[in-house]
Amino acid sequence: MLHENLPTLLVLGVLLVAYRYTKVGDWFKELIKKDIRLQYDYIIVGGGTSGAVLASRLAEDDNITILLIEAGGLPTTNPDIDIPVYSDVGQGGTEKGPGEFDWLYYTVPQKHACLGHVNQSCIVHSGKGLGGTSNINYLLYLRGNRFEYDEWAKNGAEGWAYKDVLPYFIKSEDQRNREFVKTVFHGFGGRMSVTDVGKSPTNRIMADVFKEVGLKERDYNGKTQFGWHPVQATMRNGLRMGSYNAFLKRYLKKSNLYIATKSPAQKIVFEGKKAVGVTFLHTSKRGVKQITVRASQEVILCAGAIATPKLLMLSGVGPKAHLNSLQIPVVADLPVGENLQDQVMGDGIEFYTDYAGFTITAARAENFVSSWAYQIFGTGMKASPRFREAISYIKLRNQPASIKYPLVSLHILSNPNVYEADQLNIKDSVWDNIHAEPLSREGMTIFPVLLHPKSRGTVQLRSKDPEDPPIINPNYLAEDIDVKVLAEAYTFARRLIHTTALKDWEFRLTNRILPECARYGNYTEQYIECHLRHITIPGLAPVGTCRMGAPNDPRAVVDGTLRVRGLKNLRVVDASIIPTSLSGDTFATQVMIAEKAADMLRGRDSVQAIKDYFNHLYEVRHKHVMEEDEILAHAGEGQGRGKGKRDGRQEGKQERCDRKRKWKRRAKTSD
Ligand SMILES: Cc1cc2nc3c(=O)[nH]c(=O)nc-3n(C[C@H](O)[C@H](O)[C@H](O)COP(=O)(O)OP(=O)(O)OC[C@H]3O[C@@H](n4cnc5c(N)ncnc54)[C@H](O)[C@@H]3O)c2cc1C
Repeated sequence: MLHENLPTLLVLGVLLVAYRYTKVGDWFKELIKKDIRLQYDYIIVGGGTSGAVLASRLAEDDNITILLIEAGGLPTTNPDIDIPVYSDVGQGGTEKGPGEFDWLYYTVPQKHACLGHVNQSCIVHSGKGLGGTSNINYLLYLRGNRFEYDEWAKNGAEGWAYKDVLPYFIKSEDQRNREFVKTVFHGFGGRMSVTDVGKSPTNRIMADVFKEVGLKERDYNGKTQFGWHPVQATMRNGLRMGSYNAFLKRYLKKSNLYIATKSPAQKIVFEGKKAVGVTFLHTSKRGVKQITVRASQEVILCAGAIATPKLLMLSGVGPKAHLNSLQIPVVADLPVGENLQDQVMGDGIEFYTDYAGFTITAARAENFVSSWAYQIFGTGMKASPRFREAISYIKLRNQPASIKYPLVSLHILSNPNVYEADQLNIKDSVWDNIHAEPLSREGMTIFPVLLHPKSRGTVQLRSKDPEDPPIINPNYLAEDIDVKVLAEAYTFARRLIHTTALKDWEFRLTNRILPECARYGNYTEQYIECHLRHITIPGLAPVGTCRMGAPNDPRAVVDGTLRVRGLKNLRVVDASIIPTSLSGDTFATQVMIAEKAADMLRGRDSVQAIKDYFNHLYEVRHKHVMEEDEILAHAGEGQGRGKGKRDGRQEGKQERCDRKRKWKRRAKTSD
C-alpha cells in the first residue's frame, strides 16, 4: 500500500518543502490576491502593532470591509525576526536609509542629552511592515501601572480607567504562568502568549541580590510593580508573538480584508471636516500607482507616534502656525506632534565576573545543546529576548507618597557587552573610554530607565514631501529633574556591587570615566549626570503626539473615543494617543488600545464575560476574603453572573481548571 503511494508522497513532500522554504508561497499568494476596490467601510493606515490587531478584530465581522494600508512588507522575509535572541535583527537601515523593517529615524541635535553622539543625535528605531515595531522590539510584556490608567481617566480620557482597560489586557492574553492566571490580573487562551524567561544564572543571582536590598519577587503586571521579576516575554514555544504572528497572520486571506503592503499613505482626504478617504502609493503586481480609496465609515490612523502626526499634518491637521509656514491648508488647528515623550535609558552598568556561564550571546545560543533545546522545547539561550532577563521597579528616596507608580526601573541583561557604539550612534572616541575593553566576557549589564520624563518634545514636518522623514526632537533630559531621577537609579544599580550575593561571585565594576566629565570627580553625583547626558539611550517608547484627553481639552488631539477633535470619521489608534509615558513599555498597551478600539467601532462589548467574572468574584469573595482591592473596586460593570473569564473556548478551559482544582482539594480532604 505504502510503496504504491510512495511517488505521490514524495512529490507532495517536495512541494511542501518548496512551499515552506522558498518564495513559491508568496508568489502564489500574490497571484490569487484580490483586486483593490475603490471604497471600503474602514481604511486603516499602518499595519503595525495596533493596526494589525485592529484589522484582525474588524475582519472577524464578515459584514465589514477593511482596507489595511502598510508602507512596509511582510515580516516573513527574515525568519530570524521571530527568534528572541536575534530580536534586534530587523533594527537598522541600509546604506540608502531606512531598512526593510525599520524607519531608522534620527533626532535633531540634542542640547541636553546625546552629547557624545555623532551630531549630538540619537537613533529612534521604529518598525516597518506588517506587525510594525512589534517585529523589532525586545518582546517585553509590560503593561504599565494601574494607577496611570486611572490618571488617564481623571485627566479627561473617559472610559480608560484601569477597571475599563484590564478586561482588554486579559482578552488578548495567553499567560503561560499558571500562578499569574489565578489572580484577577491575567487571562489565558487569548491570541498573544506571554511566557516567563527561564531561571538563568543571572536571574538566580539577582534573586539573592534583590532579596538583600529588600525587593520582593512579584508580578509587575499585577497588583503592585515595586519589586522585581524575571522578564515576561510575548513569545510562545520560543517564537516571537508580535501582533502579526499573534493576530493578523490568520486573516491574510479573509475576503473582507484587503492588505496593501509596500503602499505608503500620503494624505487623508477631507470633504469639509469629514475624512472620506486616503491617497497612497499602491504597490501591486502591475507596479506602483498613486490612488485614492474612499472610506464609507471611517479612516483610522495606526501609523505610530512618529508617522501618525506626520500624516495628519501633511493632511492639514496640526498646529496652524506650523502648517502655515509650509503653506499647507489648515483643516483643523490641533496640537498634533506636540507633547512628544520618550523614556530614557542610562548608559549600561557592566558587572564583570570570571566565573563562567553567566553570559548569553547569540554565538553561544548557537551551540549544540542550546540549539537542540530550542528546536525541541523552544527554550534555552535562543529563547532569551536579546539577553533581557529581569526587570525591577524601585522607589526613589524622596518619591512623593501621592505618586503611586514607579518613576524608574532597572533592566537586567545577562551580557556585559550589549551594544556597539555605532548601534547607538555614539562616537567611538566617547564610547571607547568606558566600554572598549571589557574586563571579562562573563557578567551582566544593568540599564536604569527613566519612566516618566518631564521633558517634552515635538514631531514636525520637514517639508510637504511625504517621503521626507519628520523632524524629531524628543528634548531628552531638558528638564533637570529627569537627569536627577535617572542618576538616582544609576547610582542605586552601581551600589548593588556591594551586596554579598555579587561579592560571593566576585563581580566587579569598571571605574573608567569619561574625560568629558572628569572635572566632576570619580562617579560623583555631578559626574554621573554629565555621563548620562553624554551617553543617552532612547527608551524607544515614544508617546503623546496625538494626546488623548477630554473633548474640550485644548492639549488633546483625540477624545476618549479616539476620534480626532472637531473632525468627523477620523480616529487615531496607536502609541501617539497615550497621554503620558507609562511605567512600562508600550507594546502591551497598544494591543489593549486596539482591542478596545475594535469594540468601539463594532459597537459591541467583547469583554462582558470578563466583567461578569469580576462581578462573580466580587459577590463570592465578599463574604469570605475580600482581596485584590475589593476585586478592583467592583470592576465589572455588567449585571450578569457569568463565570467565564473569556470567550466560549476559553471559558471551557477556565472551568476545567477550576474543576481540577476542586478535585485536588477534595482528594486532599479525603486523605
Ligand atoms: C527597538 C525597540 C524595542 C522595543 N522594545 C519593546 C519591548 O520590549 N516591549 C514593549 O512593550 N515595547 C517595546 N518597544 C515599543 C513598542 O514596541 C512600540 O511602541 C509599539 O509597538 C508601537 O506600536 P504602534 O502601533 O504605535 O506603532 P508601530 O508598531 O510602529 O506601527 C506603525 C506602522 O505604521 C506603518 N506606517 C508608518 N507610516 C506609514 C504610512 N505613511 N503609510 C502606511 N503605513 C505607515 C509602519 O510601517 C508601521 O508598520 C520597543 C520599540 C523599539 C523601537
